[in-house]
Amino acid sequence: MTAYDRAPAFLTIDVGAVVANWRLIRDRVGPGCEAAAVVKADCYGLGAERIVPGLAAAGCRTFFVATIDEGIAIRKVLPREVTVAILGGPLPGAAADLAEHALTPVLNSLDQIGLWAGYAAATGSRLKAALHLDTGMSRLGLDAPAVAMLAADPALLNGIDPILVMSHMACADETGHPKNRQQLTAFQTLSGQLGLPARRSLGASSTIFLGPDYHFDLVRPGAVLYGLNPTPDQANPMAAVVALHARILQVRDVDSPMTVGYGATHSVRGKGRVAVAALGYADGVFRSLGNSGFGVIEGERVPVVGRISMDLTTFDVSALAPEQARPGALIEIIGPHQAADDLAAQGGTIGYEVLTALGRRYLRTYQGEVV
Ligand SMILES: *Cc1c(COP(=O)(O)O)cnc(C)c1O
Repeated sequence: MTAYDRAPAFLTIDVGAVVANWRLIRDRVGPGCEAAAVVKADCYGLGAERIVPGLAAAGCRTFFVATIDEGIAIRKVLPREVTVAILGGPLPGAAADLAEHALTPVLNSLDQIGLWAGYAAATGSRLKAALHLDTGMSRLGLDAPAVAMLAADPALLNGIDPILVMSHMACADETGHPKNRQQLTAFQTLSGQLGLPARRSLGASSTIFLGPDYHFDLVRPGAVLYGLNPTPDQANPMAAVVALHARILQVRDVDSPMTVGYGATHSVRGKGRVAVAALGYADGVFRSLGNSGFGVIEGERVPVVGRISMDLTTFDVSALAPEQARPGALIEIIGPHQAADDLAAQGGTIGYEVLTALGRRYLRTYQGEVV
């Protein structure tokens, strides 16, 4: 029996589409601006070691990940001159690992600047870094008082070559949100105050679509590379990357009133058929999709009935012919009829969470890789 025969569910990842999406962003921002790639969380769950080489072959020269271990993993598939930046920055004791693997930390606080400058002094080296300014997220980054301190005492950066000054937007997916302009202005003011000879970067996926004012010297697209919609109130300009299909394990004919699944939350009243598919919340199908999501068989929507179990999901297939919904047949969960963003909306979350929650049990197939 082959892995294909055994597989309960199939995840197909189109690396060619990721690369096409990166090129679309690169062309959109034009030659004066570098298109980097955000490949944190294993390329949003899709497999960094398979996707990153494709992006590098297409010309991407700067990659962002969240953690040092993610950086070490992609460094293995990237030449040393390609920049790998660590968004979380250095934790105490981590500087040597960063340097060993040629990883560039994003420095988010005066403490992190102190750690990196201390390591530069201790080793007598000059070290590259990105500086992150907080312009309104109250998350990572130097706030206005910290920027003022740094501007007043440039010696804090002794031994550090700042290659990028960056910030991150809170509301960029809402085109008309007043916070967008406020953060843009704050970024211009704070980066001006620092006056460092570094390139500047403000834009992640949705920010890029706010227009050229927001592009600066480098953009940091993540979600768009994986086919998520950066402009939720408009049609998705990105190519689809992910397809997910699950097999039907069993089809139950119901001819007397009965309930489906844990908690007996769904009742079948008349005659009907329920298909049991081989994936559940352990595979990233959120429990919140119970009695609300749907799958697709041969173009026909089949509603989820009952709660999502760990390994199983039940669909009402009464409207389909028995030969369409039979054991072994496939139900589309993500694909041409239902984007990851649609599944997310149905489950009360965002496409980012759907992708990063995709489970480890799928038979994963990669298409369009560079060989
Ligand atoms: C995750 C992240 C990005 C990418 O965001 P997308 O919305 O997925 O494009 C860019 N910059 C920072 C600082 C991030 O944390």
